[in-house]
Amino acid sequence: TTSPGAGRAEVVVDLDAIAANTAVLRERVGRPLMAVVKADGYGHGLVPAARAVLAGGADCLGVAVVAEALALRAAGVTAPVLAWLNGPGTDVAAALAADVELSVSAGWGLDEVLAAARAAGRPARVHLAVDTGLSREGATPDDWPGLVAAAARAQADGELAVVGLWSHLAYADAPTHPTIGAQVRVFEEAVAVARDAGLTDARRHLANSAATIALPGTWFDLVRPGIALYGLDPMGGDPRQHGLRPAMTVRAQVAHTKRVPAGAGVSYGHTYSTERETTLALVPVGYADGIPRAVGNRAPVLAAGEQRRIAGRVCMDQFVLDVGDDGIAPGDDVVLWGPGDDGEPTAQQWADAGDTIHYELVTRVGGRFSRRYV
Ligand code: PLP
Repeated sequence: TTSPGAGRAEVVVDLDAIAANTAVLRERVGRPLMAVVKADGYGHGLVPAARAVLAGGADCLGVAVVAEALALRAAGVTAPVLAWLNGPGTDVAAALAADVELSVSAGWGLDEVLAAARAAGRPARVHLAVDTGLSREGATPDDWPGLVAAAARAQADGELAVVGLWSHLAYADAPTHPTIGAQVRVFEEAVAVARDAGLTDARRHLANSAATIALPGTWFDLVRPGIALYGLDPMGGDPRQHGLRPAMTVRAQVAHTKRVPAGAGVSYGHTYSTERETTLALVPVGYADGIPRAVGNRAPVLAAGEQRRIAGRVCMDQFVLDVGDDGIAPGDDVVLWGPGDDGEPTAQQWADAGDTIHYELVTRVGGRFSRRYV
């Protein structure tokens, strides 16, 4: 595809890496895997990412909202899909018509699903969410028995099938944290309540990527990783130690170069000044394209054969590099982050530079970047 920016600015996505990472995790756990492809496949492209994880052996897909699930269906993806963030006004009827599984956290949500199922004349496939300690989605343990009882009645009436019981961990990326054991215990109690109520066929799922990698006691019947499928280590380490390969490389072309004297102030606020006569190179991507403003003077990029820190503030559409006396010309390639195999920085290096997590970087890169699949 052609970049609408000043020269090529592209996110290159290695779909074989996504498929291979999926296969590595699937093999590790030896049980079904729900591949999380929300947020446009973590910035890698919803539909291509979905196809890649399915090629790698994913059994089903997980997204946040129904619109994402419907986009998968519109593209011809027929694998089971769960949408778990369903607020009031969710198009439950469209979800049921497209055979999308829905998570339910509360009685009102169950009522909406049941109403749509009755109208459609077909049972809804539902996952019940229990809040085991993240204080996010899911019924509290106090509200859980009521939700379970109502769902069990509806299941007995043939109006829905409870196919999943699930929760989410707060500290999976800190594998020895005491909340993990506590959440697992609450989850197991909630499962026992559901089974006693007759919800015996539902698959239990709790593990995100970090738990899929490091916490076998959380795997239950199905694991639910996201970030690791894209080759990034949720613990912030080297993904290769887990057999994972980063799928995303972000690159741009130098738009302009110039020689400037010592003492030239660079970019807004002159937070960087040149120490000696030097060459500056302008890279035509900025915070409007998902490059965090916080990485100014901090994040490295690979340019003219070396990693160099961004000079000065990141602007809306561009940032500047100080390349000294090294040769660089308009059109030359600059790599922001990638797998790290060819001298380029990694997404983790960028995350450290921006006081953020690589999840935020990969899901936000966009704007004038085009995407290319290899
Ligand atoms: N499950 C739920 C409910 C999530 O919200 C997410 C992502 O945030 C995941 C699984 C996947 O998490 P991760 O990308 O850390 O594997």
